[in-house]
Amino acid sequence: MQVPLLDLKGQFAALKPEIMKEIEELCDSQMFILGPKVAALETEIAAYSRANGACGVSSGSDALLISLMVEGIGAGDEVITTPFTFFATAGAIARVGAKPVFADIDPETFNINPAKIEAKITPRTRAVIPVHLFGQTAEMDPILEIARAHNLIVIEDAAQAIGAEYKGRRAGSMGNYGCFSFFPSKNLGGFGDGGMVTADSPERVEKLKIFRNHGMNPKYYHHFVGGNFRLAALQAAVLSIKLKHLDSWTAARQKNAEEYRRLFAASAIGEKVALPVKASFSSRHIYNQFSILVKDGKRDAVKAALQAAGIGCDIYYPVPLHMQECFASLGYRKGDLPVSEAVADEILALPIYPESTTEMREYVVATIETALK
Ligand SMILES: *Cc1c(COP(=O)(O)O)cnc(C)c1O
Repeated sequence: MQVPLLDLKGQFAALKPEIMKEIEELCDSQMFILGPKVAALETEIAAYSRANGACGVSSGSDALLISLMVEGIGAGDEVITTPFTFFATAGAIARVGAKPVFADIDPETFNINPAKIEAKITPRTRAVIPVHLFGQTAEMDPILEIARAHNLIVIEDAAQAIGAEYKGRRAGSMGNYGCFSFFPSKNLGGFGDGGMVTADSPERVEKLKIFRNHGMNPKYYHHFVGGNFRLAALQAAVLSIKLKHLDSWTAARQKNAEEYRRLFAASAIGEKVALPVKASFSSRHIYNQFSILVKDGKRDAVKAALQAAGIGCDIYYPVPLHMQECFASLGYRKGDLPVSEAVADEILALPIYPESTTEMREYVVATIETALK
């Protein structure tokens, strides 16, 4: 049996007639940049995320970048974030000329540990970027409280967490900004790159929309130096169709996660593997990934056994960001953020996509069981 880590072909086949009709209409109109399709998706994502408003952008990476730009964060400023995330989170901070400052993670949720933030705050700190990793939100209340006390901007990196909830509140509705990615492998994926920024006020949404178009308003009058961060109308059209199905895909991912839990509990694997922990504050986990920890230094052996058995799996992320070569000048040493470093050595993501089957999961767990015998 072949078990891919992710297979989007089934999802597309089911929606193909509706999507191809939309694409054909758009091609007939030849209106590819922004326009009504993008505006409609902005309204839909703002409503879905229960945010004040939204601005469609070119990618999740640009969503983070433009949020920092709108706040005027740059040289001499510091932004606190997690070292255990996709590179784009810290990359955006560095790209505006600010300094990424890393606070270690919680060993169970793999998200930034709020108790580690305060010690990293200096007079230069301007913002904090919590990441809702793998589809589960960070612990937001203490983060929001620290931000209020120190007058910091909160930018949620919700690229992996569209529709995830913290105590009933949606990802992207809690901070000043929420950054989403429509990279094809995210839970709501387009046919190429795309992203969205939600914001907590109409003023911020307005400013985002000006910045995404070179700071231009009206045409050819530039108040700010922005960039071309525009979302393609074709992507918006596809994403609006897919958004109608997102809740059913999320329900399937949650069901698949519960099935993994039952299968692992019934296996002989026991304590050799730790399953993802659903935190008590996490009222809706959307399982962008189902990442286990493989103990006793066996992670790479299990990964190799899965791959040899035709099962897709991957390591998110093998090197925490404070240990990346490009950030060597920040001066971190091995051991500085020990939880992130330990998790990076044990983590392994298993297939969880909505259309994957019970038979596939049985095969995955059985293969891990054999590899750990
Ligand atoms: C995917 C991702 C991004 C970047 O999104 P792109 O659309 O690929 O630019 C940023 N942060 C996190 C946590 C992500 O997973």
